[in-house]
Amino acid sequence: MNLHEYQGKEILNSFGVEIQRGIVAQTPAEAVEAAKKLTEETGTGWHVIKAQVHAGGRGKGGGVKLAKNLQEVEKIANDIIGMNLVTPQTSAEGKKVHQVLVAEDVYYPGENEPEEYYMSVLLNRSTGKNMIMYSTEGGMDIEQVAEETPHLIFHEEVDPATGLMPFQARRIAFNLGLSGKAFKEMTKFVSALYKAYTESDSSLFEINPVLKTSDDKIIAVDAKVTLDDNALFRHKDYAAMRDKREENAVEVEAREAGLSYVDLDGNVGCMVNGAGLAMATMDLIKQAGGEPANFLDVGGTADAERVETAFKLILKDPNVKAILVNIFGGIVRCDRVAQGIVDAYKNMGTIQVPIIVRLQGTNADKAKELIDNSGLAVQSAIEFKEAADKVQQVLA
Ligand code: GDP
Ligand code: MN
Repeated sequence: MNLHEYQGKEILNSFGVEIQRGIVAQTPAEAVEAAKKLTEETGTGWHVIKAQVHAGGRGKGGGVKLAKNLQEVEKIANDIIGMNLVTPQTSAEGKKVHQVLVAEDVYYPGENEPEEYYMSVLLNRSTGKNMIMYSTEGGMDIEQVAEETPHLIFHEEVDPATGLMPFQARRIAFNLGLSGKAFKEMTKFVSALYKAYTESDSSLFEINPVLKTSDDKIIAVDAKVTLDDNALFRHKDYAAMRDKREENAVEVEAREAGLSYVDLDGNVGCMVNGAGLAMATMDLIKQAGGEPANFLDVGGTADAERVETAFKLILKDPNVKAILVNIFGGIVRCDRVAQGIVDAYKNMGTIQVPIIVRLQGTNADKAKELIDNSGLAVQSAIEFKEAADKVQQVLA
């Protein structure tokens, strides 16, 4: 589950990570109030207005702007709220902005120039360790840095059993070229950031930029946080941060029905039980010359009701030209699934696209008989290859 910048910063701050402070606003009037309050609390005269959407690169798309007085706060908030923000990370239509973060300006002039760094914490799946990735080249596209100047990206592997060791935090501060107060602040920042990552059960914390202010404070200016869905049950307060407006509507509906659905770009709807079978089925569809339109796992209990919900979800996608049902009857009996499909089909009465059903496992023959004798426009197959050929035929 992804979070907004302001939510990510709240979590960071609760673990002692210094952040650029801000207040969320839904309207220009609220933005002005937020700016006044921030000035009282932080003494800041200037404010940055930042679109809150689940996409990076907001600055490039005009979703992050500096306001030098309250009139500008109101004007910029008015421009940004309600806009469709297009960034390098959104589709061409962009993302609708429902709210902005009014934040203190932290790039104020002083003794030194402010400097931007990059830092993220994530799991390195090949070593089974957490990894802190960081660079002196912050504020810009890290993918571009990785491509053009990979030697400027550093990695620090952290053993989850021991946690981050003090010498590691010092090495990071050293590699970033820091000294004096900034060095000490950076070691504190890194330790707090690592703690936030592990204790919130996140799979990603990306702070770009981490800022060294002109008076040598180290703060998080941006925050991209991905929480591990499997651990949300022990973080009810984080689970409540979900913003459904940012998510695919069908995916939200599927999750609420207990189905796992991922929207894809193709033309063949796919209903399966089990993630491994889903992968194999998507390969099968590609081999047959189609493109999967989705990934839908009905799980272990493929009864009529679930099958019907699954059909409804798949058919919400107007690009679907055929549906392939590929169920392995291990715990669930194939004839029960077949009956579920027949019932769902009859109940819905509106299915226009061809359906190919491949049931394999317990009572597969009985299931095929049920489908073949149902009189419905549903084709059955027992073998994988047979199912693929039938998909190919209906797409031709
Ligand atoms: P992103 O574009 O979605 O990654 O959003 P960021 O939160 O990283 O902000 C984009 C850019 O806005 C940063 O890289 C900074 O250059 C700029 N920015 C952010 N906060 C401030 C601020 O307080 N003052 C000024 N002058 N610029 C800021
Ligand atoms: Mn950023």
